[in-house]
Amino acid sequence: MESAPRKIIHVDMDAFYASVEIRDNPALRGRPVVVGGSPNSRGVVAAASYEARKFGIHSAMPCAQAARRCPQAVFVPPNFDKYRQVSRQIHAIFQRYTTLVEPLALDEAYLDVTENIPRNPSATRIAEEIKAAIRAETQLTASAGVAPNKFLAKVASEERKPDGLFVIRPEMVDEFLVTLPLSKVPGVGPVTLAQLQELGAVTCGQLQQVPREVLEKKFGKRGEYFYRMARGQDDRPVNPHRERKSVSVEDTFAEDHDDAEWLLAKLGALAASLARRLEANGARGRTLTLKLRLADFSIHTRSITVPDVLADAEQLLELARGLYADSGLAGRKLRLLGLGVSHLEREDAPEPYEQLRLDLRVP
Ligand SMILES: [Mg+2]
Repeated sequence: MESAPRKIIHVDMDAFYASVEIRDNPALRGRPVVVGGSPNSRGVVAAASYEARKFGIHSAMPCAQAARRCPQAVFVPPNFDKYRQVSRQIHAIFQRYTTLVEPLALDEAYLDVTENIPRNPSATRIAEEIKAAIRAETQLTASAGVAPNKFLAKVASEERKPDGLFVIRPEMVDEFLVTLPLSKVPGVGPVTLAQLQELGAVTCGQLQQVPREVLEKKFGKRGEYFYRMARGQDDRPVNPHRERKSVSVEDTFAEDHDDAEWLLAKLGALAASLARRLEANGARGRTLTLKLRLADFSIHTRSITVPDVLADAEQLLELARGLYADSGLAGRKLRLLGLGVSHLEREDAPEPYEQLRLDLRVP
């Protein structure tokens, strides 16, 4: 017997960081707001308000470039404590409807409401209620997508942004996919898009015409993913215990360096950016790994696991300095430095000292 279709909702806050800043400072309303570093820093845009997006500003763009595109933009530094606070509020709202909530970011989650706490048979009604509750309790807007699986729900939440609600019923899936541009499929970036275009596919409908073998030959394992996505097939469950394995940052230098002072300054910058990324992901871990690539391209890693969660940049830097000093590679020419935190939120992480001993034995 075929099982009944699932009911999945993807909820995504609109221009999240920027909207929070505008909410808390009405003087910013209607103005192009960029959350991120200052325009003359080397930082990148963390979020842009819809006003700022009209100037072509988007996240991950260098702040200096954003300032050139829109000189009147207001630059606001991020405040992750506030974003996490709102994140907790919206998750509390989700939990009123289902325990099957899978967070993707501070402001984004999948909910499986096939069976739900208020026993509401309409996923659309639930999505409306969630949007209304978010607006009432946080004074912010969210967009929601409702569909029979995660892939389609995520695409649907983008369809009517901001403050949107879009529903893809099971019987609408085939028609919806015919014209869905591949650029809207999660995981398809500019490079993949160009490769798919070479196969004659710009939409999911066109991709359906490309035989599975061709996709698998060109993309390997990802070919299978594209084959299924083109048909709207996605049976991944909503997993409330999903964990990110690690969060890391690295820097490849324009030229090799062996100067200790220069390298330690670099480590400081990496520690700061890792701390920001941990905050942005709401991730907490206890193992820090230092990655070094020598001028001969060999890669060396050193790790340490500590009893308490790693969070602030200073602590990360202190540990990273220790790993570097213990690496036996001080004074060697390096072409890359990286820092990562793993064992995120894991109950079964190895005991601190056992892990430390193991890693130090690595040549
Ligand atoms: Mg968002």
